[in-house]
Amino acid sequence: MIEIADGVFVRRHTELDLTLGHVTGSGDSLLVDSGMDPALAREISPSRVVLTHNHFDHVLATEAFLPCEVWAHEDCVVDERLLDDRAKYYRDPFEGRLVAPTHTFRDTVTLDVGGRRVDLHHFGPAHTSHDVVVHVPDAGVVFAGDLVEQGAPAQAGPDATPSNWRRVLDLLLRLDPRIVVPGHGDPVDAAFVREMAIPEAT
Ligand SMILES: [Zn+2]
Repeated sequence: MIEIADGVFVRRHTELDLTLGHVTGSGDSLLVDSGMDPALAREISPSRVVLTHNHFDHVLATEAFLPCEVWAHEDCVVDERLLDDRAKYYRDPFEGRLVAPTHTFRDTVTLDVGGRRVDLHHFGPAHTSHDVVVHVPDAGVVFAGDLVEQGAPAQAGPDATPSNWRRVLDLLLRLDPRIVVPGHGDPVDAAFVREMAIPEAT
């Protein structure tokens, strides 16, 4: 865990260059994406996991953090189809249980994480139909999920809406972030997001 702002951490993984986030308040914390490594649950016990979107690499370890609330956009479906995508990358079977969201929202919701305000936003379809942006206003940190990637181009799969991507990023930038944490790669700044290339539909 690397502290990028007061009480805000990122965990970088060599696996797929994945980046998770951990926002801590007084006696409470929130994890941004559960990722693929259940061992993280031996280090932290968040009361909430927020899923930025339903791609397998961001959600498969949720079970390890139970009991906790699992937050996502209302269109975020976690089901067996994720495992078909995983099977394209990994030969070994997925050991564990898929965990669906327990708490959902449509546009915006504000959470209290041990006295600290954390806002979840959905700005419309882009990387998926249900991307969640996690904003920690007092730290100037935004977790962007796969709307932003560093070290590799952002990815638009069959479930993406590239035509709306720039608009979504503009709304994200209106949060005036000091640090933007991508779903893959190292944290970046607002200028990086402003200048990044929008992927084309594949
Ligand atoms: Zn993704």
